[in-house]
Amino acid sequence: MTDPEAEPAPDSDSGYPAGGSGAATLVHNIGSLVTNDPTAGEGPLGVIEDAAVLLVGDRVAWTGPAAAAPHADTAYDAGGRAALPGFVDSHSHLVFGGDRTAEFAARMSGRPYSAGGIRTTVQATREASDEQLSATLARYLAEALRQGTTTMETKSGYGLTPEHEARALRIAARHTDEVTFLGAHVVAPEYAGSGADDADTDGYVALVTGAMLDSCAPHARWVDVFCERGAFDGEQARAVLTAGRDRGLLPRVHANQLGHGPGVQLAVELEAASADHCTHLDDADVDALAQARDTTVATLLPGCEFSTRAVYPDARRLLDAGATVALSTDCNPGSSFTSSMPFCIAVAVREMGMTPDEAVWAATAGGARALRRTDVGRLTPGSRADLVLLDAPSHVHLAYRPGVPLVTQVWRRGVRVAG
Ligand SMILES: [Zn+2]
Repeated sequence: MTDPEAEPAPDSDSGYPAGGSGAATLVHNIGSLVTNDPTAGEGPLGVIEDAAVLLVGDRVAWTGPAAAAPHADTAYDAGGRAALPGFVDSHSHLVFGGDRTAEFAARMSGRPYSAGGIRTTVQATREASDEQLSATLARYLAEALRQGTTTMETKSGYGLTPEHEARALRIAARHTDEVTFLGAHVVAPEYAGSGADDADTDGYVALVTGAMLDSCAPHARWVDVFCERGAFDGEQARAVLTAGRDRGLLPRVHANQLGHGPGVQLAVELEAASADHCTHLDDADVDALAQARDTTVATLLPGCEFSTRAVYPDARRLLDAGATVALSTDCNPGSSFTSSMPFCIAVAVREMGMTPDEAVWAATAGGARALRRTDVGRLTPGSRADLVLLDAPSHVHLAYRPGVPLVTQVWRRGVRVAG
């Protein structure tokens, strides 16, 4: 039932199909349902066998055993398949131009590649039109959606001038609610000098925390910084995050990716929602993340280590210490060009010591925690009707059957958008 005169549902993330119209749909004959509500079913994932979910409009109205399901005018038979909440991918860089296939091939051939890296993408992004950037972003959001990702954060960081960063954020905000200002990704070419020794990093930080923040703050929810040797040190990162926070942006940090550094401690101290990467941690970092488990999530990005042949972060150590762990793709054209959360789950289980249950939680509820969202990453009454069906009897198959396209149906805001 659609009324062509009706106002569309308020939905700022208009890169996706519009949300549900108010109709009720019962998805039943679900062989195994992950709710992420331990009070609703078995174990930490709250698994219900032989389950049903009632979607009303863009929300979940009911979950439980199929035998107790309420009536709905529209019913969808899941055919005994497993279902889980849509994935929440809390870290990506999708406003970009150009292509870095050759750089990847060189790296995988063992040849050194010129230090262009992020700056190659900066140049291509500046040269791209708004329409090109928007089309690229829409393409990868749609690609991720087909693989079950129903919430996706994305960042600026390839513009590195006030105008280009604001443009990236404006474009991102037309497609997703979760938009992050990452002007402090690398030092802009105009400040880079001829090498690390004569880069005017402090001058660039002054720009990021001044004119760039002025033009970007209205378009973003989050502020982020690449706190790493060769990018921004602890004090520079602190300046960026606190300036953003003073303008109402919430901090998150690229921390401890390439080597040990102050990023994790800074994230915890500033109550950032997430410390992302967490690959090189000492005991004090692990302790800090464990203490901050209700505030700062450790977001692990295994696509990055996979695509750069780097050592994986030790998820087991973080989980055993009590930290909250999320998984994300870090989808970007340089270091991790995957949009697949199922791939990240499989790698996290095989290489990072996570159990299948922990990895599925981290890719759904964990991502929601990293974005401080309570409406996604779970299937409970009142949560957003974002549901993924797997052509498999249980969510464990996401790790058990790596590389197999198991996601067969995706509902987002109560509307079937894929499959
Ligand atoms: Zn990143």
